[in-house]
Amino acid sequence: MKKINLALVSLLTLFVLGACGQDKEDSQTPDKLQVVATNSILADMAEIVGGDKVEVHSIVPVGTDPHEYEPLPVDIAKSTEADLIFYNGLNLETGGSGWFAKLMETSNKKAEVDFFAASLGVEPMYLTSDGKESEQDPHAWLDISNGMTYVRNIEKALAAKDAGNEAYFKAKADTYIAALEELDTKGKKEFKEIPKEQALLVTSEGAFKYFSKAYGLEAAYIWEINTESQGTPDQMSQIIDKINETKVPNLFIETSVDPRSMESVSNETGIPIYDKIFTDSLANKGEPGDSYYKMMEWNLTKIHDGLLAESK
Ligand SMILES: [Zn+2]
Repeated sequence: MKKINLALVSLLTLFVLGACGQDKEDSQTPDKLQVVATNSILADMAEIVGGDKVEVHSIVPVGTDPHEYEPLPVDIAKSTEADLIFYNGLNLETGGSGWFAKLMETSNKKAEVDFFAASLGVEPMYLTSDGKESEQDPHAWLDISNGMTYVRNIEKALAAKDAGNEAYFKAKADTYIAALEELDTKGKKEFKEIPKEQALLVTSEGAFKYFSKAYGLEAAYIWEINTESQGTPDQMSQIIDKINETKVPNLFIETSVDPRSMESVSNETGIPIYDKIFTDSLANKGEPGDSYYKMMEWNLTKIHDGLLAESK
Protein backbone atom coordinates (compact mmCIF):
# COMPACT_ATOMS: atom_id res chain seq x y z
CA MET A 1 0.00 0.00 0.00
CA LYS A 2 2.76 2.39 1.03
CA LYS A 3 4.60 1.66 -2.20
CA ILE A 4 1.58 2.55 -4.29
CA ASN A 5 1.17 5.83 -2.41
CA LEU A 6 4.78 6.71 -3.00
CA ALA A 7 4.40 5.93 -6.68
CA LEU A 8 1.32 8.10 -6.81
CA VAL A 9 3.17 10.92 -5.08
CA SER A 10 6.02 10.81 -7.56
CA LEU A 11 3.56 10.70 -10.42
CA LEU A 12 1.77 13.72 -9.00
CA THR A 13 5.07 15.50 -8.43
CA LEU A 14 6.05 14.88 -12.03
CA PHE A 15 2.67 16.15 -13.18
CA VAL A 16 2.92 19.31 -11.07
CA LEU A 17 6.50 19.95 -12.16
CA GLY A 18 5.46 19.40 -15.74
CA ALA A 19 2.63 21.89 -15.34
CA CYS A 20 4.99 24.45 -13.81
CA GLY A 21 7.43 23.98 -16.66
CA GLN A 22 4.60 24.56 -19.09
CA ASP A 23 3.59 27.79 -17.30
CA LYS A 24 7.09 29.07 -17.38
CA GLU A 25 7.36 28.43 -21.09
CA ASP A 26 4.07 30.25 -21.63
CA SER A 27 5.28 33.40 -19.92
CA GLN A 28 8.45 33.42 -22.00
CA THR A 29 6.81 32.93 -25.38
CA PRO A 30 3.25 33.89 -24.61
CA ASP A 31 0.34 33.49 -26.98
CA LYS A 32 -1.00 36.62 -25.30
CA LEU A 33 -1.70 39.69 -27.39
CA GLN A 34 1.17 42.13 -27.08
CA VAL A 35 -0.38 45.52 -26.36
CA VAL A 36 1.27 48.94 -26.04
CA ALA A 37 -0.48 52.02 -24.58
CA THR A 38 0.89 55.56 -24.62
CA ASN A 39 0.14 56.26 -20.95
CA SER A 40 -0.75 54.63 -17.63
CA ILE A 41 -4.48 55.39 -17.89
CA LEU A 42 -4.91 53.65 -21.24
CA ALA A 43 -2.63 50.80 -20.11
CA ASP A 44 -4.86 50.24 -17.06
CA MET A 45 -7.98 50.10 -19.24
CA ALA A 46 -6.32 47.65 -21.66
CA GLU A 47 -5.19 45.46 -18.76
CA ILE A 48 -8.67 45.34 -17.26
CA VAL A 49 -10.47 44.57 -20.53
CA GLY A 50 -7.73 42.24 -21.81
CA GLY A 51 -7.35 40.35 -18.51
CA ASP A 52 -5.00 37.38 -18.80
CA LYS A 53 -5.18 37.38 -22.60
CA VAL A 54 -2.92 40.42 -22.99
CA GLU A 55 0.47 41.72 -21.96
CA VAL A 56 0.58 45.53 -21.77
CA HIS A 57 3.53 47.92 -22.03
CA SER A 58 2.87 51.52 -20.98
CA ILE A 59 5.09 54.10 -22.67
CA VAL A 60 5.00 57.37 -20.69
CA PRO A 61 6.02 56.66 -17.07
CA VAL A 62 3.62 57.25 -14.17
CA GLY A 63 3.69 60.85 -12.92
CA THR A 64 5.06 62.15 -16.22
CA ASP A 65 3.43 64.47 -18.75
CA PRO A 66 2.31 62.54 -21.88
CA HIS A 67 2.03 65.65 -24.08
CA GLU A 68 5.81 65.81 -24.52
CA TYR A 69 7.84 62.60 -24.55
CA GLU A 70 11.02 61.22 -26.01
CA PRO A 71 10.50 57.47 -26.70
CA LEU A 72 13.19 55.18 -25.28
CA PRO A 73 14.72 52.22 -27.16
CA VAL A 74 12.43 49.90 -25.15
CA ASP A 75 9.36 51.82 -26.39
CA ILE A 76 10.50 51.42 -29.98
CA ALA A 77 11.18 47.69 -29.46
CA LYS A 78 7.79 47.10 -27.76
CA SER A 79 5.93 49.11 -30.41
CA THR A 80 7.65 47.22 -33.21
CA GLU A 81 6.67 43.84 -31.66
CA ALA A 82 3.16 44.93 -30.62
CA ASP A 83 -0.03 43.36 -32.01
CA LEU A 84 -2.01 46.40 -30.96
CA ILE A 85 -1.20 49.95 -29.84
CA PHE A 86 -3.54 52.39 -28.11
CA TYR A 87 -3.07 56.14 -27.97
CA ASN A 88 -5.43 58.82 -26.70
CA GLY A 89 -5.63 60.96 -29.82
CA LEU A 90 -7.41 64.34 -29.62
CA ASN A 91 -4.09 66.15 -29.73
CA LEU A 92 -2.59 64.52 -26.62
CA GLU A 93 0.54 62.86 -27.96
CA THR A 94 1.49 65.70 -30.29
CA GLY A 95 4.23 67.51 -28.32
CA GLY A 96 7.83 67.51 -29.55
CA SER A 97 6.41 67.86 -33.11
CA GLY A 98 4.37 64.70 -32.76
CA TRP A 99 6.28 62.11 -30.73
CA PHE A 100 3.68 59.38 -31.16
CA ALA A 101 3.34 59.76 -34.94
CA LYS A 102 7.15 59.57 -35.20
CA LEU A 103 7.23 56.47 -33.01
CA MET A 104 4.64 54.73 -35.19
CA GLU A 105 6.65 55.57 -38.29
CA THR A 106 9.86 54.23 -36.73
CA SER A 107 8.02 51.07 -35.62
CA ASN A 108 6.46 50.63 -39.07
CA LYS A 109 2.87 50.61 -37.76
CA LYS A 110 -0.29 51.64 -39.58
CA ALA A 111 -3.27 53.66 -38.32
CA GLU A 112 -6.52 51.71 -37.77
CA VAL A 113 -4.61 48.46 -38.47
CA ASP A 114 -1.95 48.42 -35.75
CA PHE A 115 -2.75 51.50 -33.69
CA PHE A 116 -6.06 52.98 -32.56
CA ALA A 117 -7.22 56.15 -30.81
CA ALA A 118 -9.05 55.14 -27.62
CA SER A 119 -11.03 58.39 -27.87
CA LEU A 120 -12.67 57.43 -31.18
CA GLY A 121 -16.29 58.66 -31.25
CA VAL A 122 -15.88 61.05 -28.31
CA GLU A 123 -17.26 64.52 -29.04
CA PRO A 124 -14.17 66.75 -28.90
CA MET A 125 -13.93 70.03 -26.99
CA TYR A 126 -11.52 72.67 -28.27
CA LEU A 127 -8.87 74.93 -26.80
CA THR A 128 -9.96 78.52 -26.22
CA SER A 129 -6.65 80.46 -26.19
CA ASP A 130 -6.13 82.93 -29.04
CA GLY A 131 -5.02 81.16 -32.17
CA LYS A 132 -5.61 77.69 -30.73
CA GLU A 133 -9.38 77.47 -31.24
CA SER A 134 -9.08 74.75 -33.88
CA GLU A 135 -6.97 72.47 -31.63
CA GLN A 136 -8.75 69.67 -29.80
CA ASP A 137 -8.49 69.40 -26.04
CA PRO A 138 -7.21 65.89 -25.30
CA HIS A 139 -8.44 65.42 -21.70
CA ALA A 140 -11.70 63.65 -22.58
CA TRP A 141 -11.13 60.74 -20.15
CA LEU A 142 -11.70 63.08 -17.20
CA ASP A 143 -15.43 62.81 -18.00
CA ILE A 144 -16.21 59.23 -16.98
CA SER A 145 -18.84 58.80 -19.69
CA ASN A 146 -16.03 59.36 -22.22
CA GLY A 147 -13.91 56.87 -20.26
CA MET A 148 -16.66 54.32 -20.90
CA THR A 149 -16.34 55.00 -24.65
CA TYR A 150 -12.57 54.43 -24.37
CA VAL A 151 -13.21 51.05 -22.70
CA ARG A 152 -15.63 49.99 -25.45
CA ASN A 153 -13.16 51.04 -28.16
CA ILE A 154 -10.39 49.06 -26.48
CA GLU A 155 -12.67 46.01 -26.23
CA LYS A 156 -13.55 46.17 -29.94
CA ALA A 157 -9.92 46.53 -31.02
CA LEU A 158 -8.86 43.58 -28.83
CA ALA A 159 -11.70 41.42 -30.19
CA ALA A 160 -10.77 42.31 -33.77
CA LYS A 161 -7.22 41.02 -33.17
CA ASP A 162 -8.25 37.97 -31.12
CA ALA A 163 -11.74 36.90 -32.22
CA GLY A 164 -11.52 33.68 -30.18
CA ASN A 165 -11.71 35.76 -26.99
CA GLU A 166 -14.39 38.19 -28.11
CA ALA A 167 -16.89 37.08 -25.45
CA TYR A 168 -14.18 37.24 -22.76
CA PHE A 169 -13.28 40.84 -23.63
CA LYS A 170 -16.94 41.84 -23.79
CA ALA A 171 -17.69 40.39 -20.36
CA LYS A 172 -14.70 42.21 -18.86
CA ALA A 173 -15.70 45.50 -20.52
CA ASP A 174 -19.34 45.17 -19.45
CA THR A 175 -18.43 44.68 -15.77
CA TYR A 176 -15.94 47.54 -15.89
CA ILE A 177 -18.35 49.94 -17.61
CA ALA A 178 -21.12 49.13 -15.10
CA ALA A 179 -18.80 50.15 -12.23
CA LEU A 180 -17.74 53.35 -14.02
CA GLU A 181 -21.35 54.24 -14.74
CA GLU A 182 -22.27 53.91 -11.08
CA LEU A 183 -19.35 56.19 -10.09
CA ASP A 184 -20.36 58.74 -12.72
CA THR A 185 -24.00 58.83 -11.60
CA LYS A 186 -22.99 59.25 -7.96
CA GLY A 187 -20.61 62.11 -8.89
CA LYS A 188 -23.24 63.93 -10.93
CA LYS A 189 -25.70 63.73 -8.05
CA GLU A 190 -23.24 64.93 -5.40
CA PHE A 191 -21.88 67.89 -7.38
CA LYS A 192 -25.35 69.47 -7.40
CA GLU A 193 -24.72 70.38 -3.73
CA ILE A 194 -21.98 72.90 -4.56
CA PRO A 195 -23.07 76.58 -4.44
CA LYS A 196 -22.68 78.28 -7.83
CA GLU A 197 -20.28 81.00 -6.58
CA GLN A 198 -17.92 78.27 -5.32
CA ALA A 199 -18.19 75.99 -8.36
CA LEU A 200 -14.87 77.06 -9.91
CA LEU A 201 -12.30 74.33 -10.44
CA VAL A 202 -8.83 75.92 -10.47
CA THR A 203 -5.93 73.79 -11.74
CA SER A 204 -2.52 74.51 -13.29
CA GLU A 205 -3.24 73.05 -16.73
CA GLY A 206 -6.71 73.58 -18.25
CA ALA A 207 -7.27 69.83 -18.27
CA PHE A 208 -10.75 69.88 -16.73
CA LYS A 209 -13.01 71.16 -19.51
CA TYR A 210 -14.68 67.80 -20.07
CA PHE A 211 -14.82 67.09 -16.34
CA SER A 212 -16.32 70.48 -15.52
CA LYS A 213 -18.95 70.19 -18.23
CA ALA A 214 -19.96 66.74 -16.96
CA TYR A 215 -20.19 67.70 -13.28
CA GLY A 216 -21.54 71.25 -13.55
CA LEU A 217 -18.44 73.33 -12.72
CA GLU A 218 -16.54 76.13 -14.41
CA ALA A 219 -12.91 75.30 -15.20
CA ALA A 220 -10.13 77.85 -14.67
CA TYR A 221 -6.41 77.38 -15.10
CA ILE A 222 -3.01 79.06 -15.24
CA TRP A 223 -2.01 77.71 -18.66
CA GLU A 224 -4.35 75.96 -21.06
CA ILE A 225 -2.30 72.97 -22.16
CA ASN A 226 1.03 71.44 -21.12
CA THR A 227 2.50 71.84 -24.59
CA GLU A 228 2.55 75.66 -24.17
CA SER A 229 4.63 78.00 -22.00
CA GLN A 230 3.65 77.68 -18.37
CA GLY A 231 2.86 80.25 -15.70
CA THR A 232 3.81 83.44 -17.59
CA PRO A 233 3.18 86.76 -15.71
CA ASP A 234 0.09 87.37 -17.89
CA GLN A 235 -1.32 83.92 -17.16
CA MET A 236 -0.66 84.40 -13.45
CA SER A 237 -2.46 87.74 -13.21
CA GLN A 238 -5.44 86.45 -15.21
CA ILE A 239 -6.04 83.48 -12.94
CA ILE A 240 -5.61 85.58 -9.80
CA ASP A 241 -8.23 88.08 -11.06
CA LYS A 242 -10.56 85.23 -11.94
CA ILE A 243 -10.24 83.68 -8.48
CA ASN A 244 -10.84 87.01 -6.76
CA GLU A 245 -14.17 87.39 -8.63
CA THR A 246 -15.55 84.24 -6.99
CA LYS A 247 -15.95 82.66 -3.57
CA VAL A 248 -13.95 79.58 -4.49
CA PRO A 249 -12.75 78.04 -1.19
CA ASN A 250 -9.87 75.87 -2.47
CA LEU A 251 -7.41 75.33 -5.33
CA PHE A 252 -6.07 72.04 -6.69
CA ILE A 253 -2.74 70.81 -8.02
CA GLU A 254 -2.27 68.03 -10.56
CA THR A 255 0.19 65.22 -9.86
CA SER A 256 1.87 65.45 -13.28
CA VAL A 257 2.84 69.16 -13.31
CA ASP A 258 5.40 71.38 -11.61
CA PRO A 259 3.58 72.67 -8.47
CA ARG A 260 5.40 76.03 -8.17
CA SER A 261 3.00 78.14 -10.26
CA MET A 262 -0.06 76.98 -8.31
CA GLU A 263 1.78 77.52 -5.04
CA SER A 264 2.40 81.14 -5.96
CA VAL A 265 -1.26 81.60 -7.03
CA SER A 266 -2.20 80.29 -3.61
CA ASN A 267 0.20 82.72 -1.90
CA GLU A 268 -1.09 85.67 -3.94
CA THR A 269 -4.80 84.96 -3.35
CA GLY A 270 -4.65 83.45 0.13
CA ILE A 271 -6.76 80.53 -1.12
CA PRO A 272 -5.29 77.22 0.01
CA ILE A 273 -4.41 74.25 -2.21
CA TYR A 274 -6.83 71.55 -1.05
CA ASP A 275 -5.11 68.46 -2.44
CA LYS A 276 -3.47 66.85 -5.44
CA ILE A 277 -5.70 65.53 -8.23
CA PHE A 278 -4.99 63.28 -11.20
CA THR A 279 -5.08 64.35 -14.83
CA ASP A 280 -2.62 62.84 -17.28
CA SER A 281 -1.23 59.98 -15.19
CA LEU A 282 -2.23 57.41 -12.60
CA ALA A 283 -0.47 57.14 -9.22
CA ASN A 284 2.32 54.64 -8.65
CA LYS A 285 1.09 51.08 -8.02
CA GLY A 286 -0.11 50.62 -4.44
CA GLU A 287 -0.81 54.32 -3.89
CA PRO A 288 -4.26 55.96 -3.95
CA GLY A 289 -5.29 56.66 -7.55
CA ASP A 290 -3.36 53.77 -9.13
CA SER A 291 -6.17 52.84 -11.55
CA TYR A 292 -8.46 54.86 -13.81
CA TYR A 293 -11.44 54.01 -11.60
CA LYS A 294 -9.58 54.99 -8.42
CA MET A 295 -8.13 58.20 -9.87
CA MET A 296 -11.61 59.32 -10.93
CA GLU A 297 -13.09 58.33 -7.58
CA TRP A 298 -10.31 60.34 -5.90
CA ASN A 299 -10.85 63.36 -8.19
CA LEU A 300 -14.61 63.36 -7.65
CA THR A 301 -14.29 63.10 -3.87
CA LYS A 302 -11.50 65.67 -3.45
CA ILE A 303 -12.96 68.23 -5.86
CA HIS A 304 -16.43 67.86 -4.37
CA ASP A 305 -15.24 68.17 -0.78
CA GLY A 306 -12.79 70.97 -1.58
CA LEU A 307 -15.37 73.12 -3.39
CA LEU A 308 -18.11 72.46 -0.85
CA ALA A 309 -15.87 73.64 2.00
CA GLU A 310 -16.68 76.95 3.64
CA SER A 311 -15.17 79.85 1.71
CA LYS A 312 -13.30 82.67 3.42
ZN1 LIG B 1 -2.64 67.32 -20.04
